[in-house]
Amino acid sequence: MTSKQAPIFTPLQGPVTKEFIEESKQMRLHFCCEDCVFFQPENGGRCLYGYPNTQHRRAYFESQEVLGRVLIFCREYESV
Ligand code: SF4
Repeated sequence: MTSKQAPIFTPLQGPVTKEFIEESKQMRLHFCCEDCVFFQPENGGRCLYGYPNTQHRRAYFESQEVLGRVLIFCREYESV
């Protein structure tokens, strides 16, 4: 997909919206690497399993670039 193409969503997916970001903060929804037991801040913020985690990091959800993109939850996420 090039940056000019609109993302394609399945029925179980939706775009990240401002409302989602606001409500996830209000409800203290934890889903980012920083809240996961496998996160390694001492190792440059890598995932213990070596998963590419840029799109699971808190900074990604705090940036404007996430709006309109597919929300991707990590299947291995385990709360601290
Ligand atoms: S298991 Fe998933 S949520 Fe946890 S640190 Fe790795 S990529 Fe992030």
